[in-house]
Amino acid sequence: MSFPPSAEPLTDVQRALCVFAHPDDVDFGSGGTVAQWVEAGIEVAYLLVTRGDAGGFDATPRERMPSIREAEQRAAAAVLGVKEVEFLEGYSDGMVTPSLELRKEITAAIRRFRPDRILTSSPLRRWDRIAGPSHPDHLAVGEATTCAVYPESRNEFAHMDLGLPPWTVREVWYNGGPAPDHAVDVTDTFERKITALRAHVTQTTHVDNLEGMLRERLSLVASGLGLPEGRLAEAFTIIRTA
Ligand SMILES: [Zn+2]
Repeated sequence: MSFPPSAEPLTDVQRALCVFAHPDDVDFGSGGTVAQWVEAGIEVAYLLVTRGDAGGFDATPRERMPSIREAEQRAAAAVLGVKEVEFLEGYSDGMVTPSLELRKEITAAIRRFRPDRILTSSPLRRWDRIAGPSHPDHLAVGEATTCAVYPESRNEFAHMDLGLPPWTVREVWYNGGPAPDHAVDVTDTFERKITALRAHVTQTTHVDNLEGMLRERLSLVASGLGLPEGRLAEAFTIIRTA
């Protein structure tokens, strides 16, 4: 099972909601793309399911990690021009499942923000790269978000107790899935992606040559999807949902 070929991106998007499991997910996979969306006048918001409390690589007291990582994500969002960052309560890093409760909370966020486009992690596992993109929390959030897009947020008879009118998200961008085929040229926003990633101090300060590593990875993505030599790209699968 894999994704079908990507749809052409919508050209009339006003609002985009990015739903991810952990602080730094959106910046690693999609920071250059989000920066472009903001530049193009799209209003972008983040919904984070956890505060990444199982992350970090040093002796920082574990109980401090959630608040540190929330602040890091807010700082990274500010670098890219994203003003709205919301965190759900009650979900722990490493223990996320695509539960009915999570689907309902994402539905509530969709009905409040009313996005044309959603960006989330792939619910499909990459068997060639288990580490990283196929973290179970990423798969769970991708699945729960897809269920919230269809049918829950658009069905007026689903979650009536939320007291929010239904909303139809027309397009979903998946990051980190198998064989992504839609490249976004992020050469011009790469520096800001790196600056945003450096705001995740607990996650990136221990990485040797973060910029070089990502430059190499994004240039491979670009050449693999047919962009000219010297370009950098982030890759997605785009699905129309309406
Ligand atoms: Zn993650």
